[in-house]
Amino acid sequence: MTGQAPSARPLPMAALAACLIATALAGCATGDRPDVMATFYPLQYLTQRVAGDGYTVESVVEPGTEPHEYQLTPTDVQNVNKAKLLVIQGANFEGWTDNVDQKNVVTASRGIALLENPEEEERDEVPQDPHTWLDPVFAQAMVRNIQQGLANTFPEDAGNFKANADRLVEDLQQLHTEFEAGLADCRKPIAITNHAAFAYMAERYGFTMIAISGLAPDAEPSAQTIKEVQDKAKEHGVKVIFFEDLVEPRVVNMIAENVGAQTRVLSPVEAIVPGTATEGKDYFGVMRMNLENLREGLECA
Ligand SMILES: [Zn+2]
Repeated sequence: MTGQAPSARPLPMAALAACLIATALAGCATGDRPDVMATFYPLQYLTQRVAGDGYTVESVVEPGTEPHEYQLTPTDVQNVNKAKLLVIQGANFEGWTDNVDQKNVVTASRGIALLENPEEEERDEVPQDPHTWLDPVFAQAMVRNIQQGLANTFPEDAGNFKANADRLVEDLQQLHTEFEAGLADCRKPIAITNHAAFAYMAERYGFTMIAISGLAPDAEPSAQTIKEVQDKAKEHGVKVIFFEDLVEPRVVNMIAENVGAQTRVLSPVEAIVPGTATEGKDYFGVMRMNLENLREGLECA
């Protein structure tokens, strides 16, 4: 804690005074702008937890918006350029980073052994699978990268960031043990999902993801793909097909009806979506809902 030592960046006098009066808690980081911009929800959540309440961390992609192939608005560009730090996922998840002037960037997926994009025809554009936040073990590595980025940017609070990151890593490890135990003994080996977001989770916990569309959630699957998915579902006697909160479940519903299965949500945690199953939840709440639904779909003991 460096509550008595406002951080090095200049604040307007009024803001500085308000800050000195209002907060004895943390490094007076709240000005009229975000201190840190993260590109989308999971990074914003993890970064906010590591940074602590004294820092404002905002998301470029707003709640309810699908982050794949997001187009920046002029306000986004301003916010990103004004922030002291930009947190990105990397692995080509953000195709727009060339359009901003922010030089202080931390890549959350740095150092993680990325899988190849499961969709062969998308590999020219997106060679690797970016969805590492859906594996609670890889999410711990992301937290350490974010901690490093914050500590480099706001060195006066490095001790806080470490303590917060340690707690968050403990919580993620707890989530990992829940997934391990919950998915240890399942009768069905496959999860049919809308988009190919769950390869890291599937690899970690020993099931096979079969995605109806590729890495882009709203790609329209071919008749051939739909037939293959239905054949797999029938072969394995699948009773649950997974849809996701941000995408109209038309194709999922059709496949479920054709094979006599029900549908459950399996969220890629790419956003918290008002009016859906993720509303009011945070990363951990959505992940635990995912675990419950996976246990039902995979018929786990
Ligand atoms: Zn995705």
